[in-house]
Amino acid sequence: MDRIVLARRGLDMFDSQPRAPPAPARAGAIIEPVPAKVPWLPATLPPGARPERCPRCGRQALIPWTLRRDDRTKTVLRTWVCTECQLTVERPEPE
Ligand SMILES: [Zn+2]
Repeated sequence: MDRIVLARRGLDMFDSQPRAPPAPARAGAIIEPVPAKVPWLPATLPPGARPERCPRCGRQALIPWTLRRDDRTKTVLRTWVCTECQLTVERPEPE
């Protein structure tokens, strides 16, 4: 019985915590494009691209693609894509 009471108290404490930070604190401050989805993957190197070597197919075809911010860690992640084999890799983007 004691154990159940303790567990319930723990849950109540958890519930009293805010689930998320107040939402619109930075609304309007930073406007950045939000690539919600990647509608298509590039099949050719864009002009001026400086591709890296793809870890899967080994060709110089891995290019930086979309950016997104991870909601949990707040880090900016860059999706890289290989134009040859369509491999996608997510790497933290240096800010
Ligand atoms: Zn590849």
